[in-house]
Amino acid sequence: MASSANPFSLSLSSELASNSSLHCANSSEVFLRFPNSPAPPSLRSSFVSPIKIELNRVGVSALKVSRIGSRISASSTPVMDQSPSQTSPRVPTVVEVDLGNRSYPIYIGSGLLQQPELLQRHVHGKRALVVTNTTIAALYLDKVVDALTRGNPNISIESVILPDGEKYKNMDTLMKVFDKAIESRLDRRCTFVAVGGGVIGDMCGFAAAAFLRGVNFIQIPTTVMAQVDSSVGGKTGINHPLGKNLIGAFYQPQCVLIDTDTLNTLPERELASGFAEVIKYGLIRDAEFFEWQEKNMQALMARDPGALAYAIKRSCENKAEVVSLDEKESGLRATLNLGHTFGHAIETGVGYGQWLHGEAVAAGMVMAVDMSYRLGWIDDSIVKRVHNILKQAKLPITPPESMTVEMFKSVMAVDKKVADGLLRLILLKGPLGNCVFTGDYDRKALDDTLRAFAKS
Ligand code: NAD
Repeated sequence: MASSANPFSLSLSSELASNSSLHCANSSEVFLRFPNSPAPPSLRSSFVSPIKIELNRVGVSALKVSRIGSRISASSTPVMDQSPSQTSPRVPTVVEVDLGNRSYPIYIGSGLLQQPELLQRHVHGKRALVVTNTTIAALYLDKVVDALTRGNPNISIESVILPDGEKYKNMDTLMKVFDKAIESRLDRRCTFVAVGGGVIGDMCGFAAAAFLRGVNFIQIPTTVMAQVDSSVGGKTGINHPLGKNLIGAFYQPQCVLIDTDTLNTLPERELASGFAEVIKYGLIRDAEFFEWQEKNMQALMARDPGALAYAIKRSCENKAEVVSLDEKESGLRATLNLGHTFGHAIETGVGYGQWLHGEAVAAGMVMAVDMSYRLGWIDDSIVKRVHNILKQAKLPITPPESMTVEMFKSVMAVDKKVADGLLRLILLKGPLGNCVFTGDYDRKALDDTLRAFAKS
């Protein structure tokens, strides 16, 4: 077994109830436990011991997270008692990301790009820079410019259209954003607007964090991946040839505007890729959502608008809750990276863009689940359910054949979750919906998993 002198620790103590800050102590795991309960689903965080975060379901329909005496919460309008078909189009659902004076709304709904007031109330200054790529510009740039300018003659819009693809998520492409901003003489009162998937959102957010040491920015995500995950929570950045997302900043947007209609043009492979992150939320912290997905994956794959709206909303609620509790990833937020350490190794190993992010995460989740099972932390029914749902979503359950054990090891060694040389992983532990972020595991289980999924 790994040494008990594990350098990683995160503790949420009873102190949190009074001062609402995360802090580290000498415990080895962050626990997320989600006891099964027949009660209507709502989430509430409560602090039960110095080393546990326990998320309980309580008997009201709105998802609401709160701390006694704390400012930290994430809330939204009721959702779980809605069937997909009851989701109303055109009326935006609002999920709040509660981060004190950096709080912001996530608007979710159909036709939101035709509601300019939603966007315009979050634009600061008289100038905006829309950052997008060649594919999305052809589809949505005019619509976004219209939403920013309709009835608002005082604003002027610049745009920069970047090449499309994960392989361009790098310093050279980032410089094109700065070039445009500087050539256009944008000042600190401008707003950057990201229109696109996770690649554009991550790059535009990082550019906004760095330009003039920080300007306002807005996320308009147009992929499932971006709508359920990357646009929320303020992680921004670019890749390095040696590893994914190694250069970046935490930088929160003014708002996230999710027009679900944009998914109508999304290629099927990209659609499925985003579902990997939806499945992740179920596995790590929301068993009931996972069960809903098991029943509704076909509807999601068929782009049923109600099912998509529901999955996006529930995912945003989960992400908002975690981000509100641990914005800078002291521990809890790392649990959102289930399967990502293996997945990032795949993305880097096969070359950026060859495997989509969600595809790599899907195979990575299978590996994390396999390792959890080898450790005796979950039973085999969970392993089977993970395989089944990923297959339903047409996502891979094994890494590409070209991946070797050595390729995994060398990329995983520079993962952001390595602390003092110890690789910490997110692993499932206990009933469905529970996970730990820990460096305290038997190294043999990791080796066995790597050998089972990759050639020597
Ligand atoms: P992506 O941004 O490359 O978009 C996928 C493809 O779909 C691109 O070709 C894009 O041009 C196209 N596209 C986007 N919207 C479209 C639309 N509506 N219609 C037609 N085509 C459209 O990929 P992604 O999956 O959105 O994002 C992956 C990236 O997100 C990765 O770089 C990953 O590291 C990052 N990510 C970041 C976070 C975070 O917290 N910041 C979380 C998850 C993923």
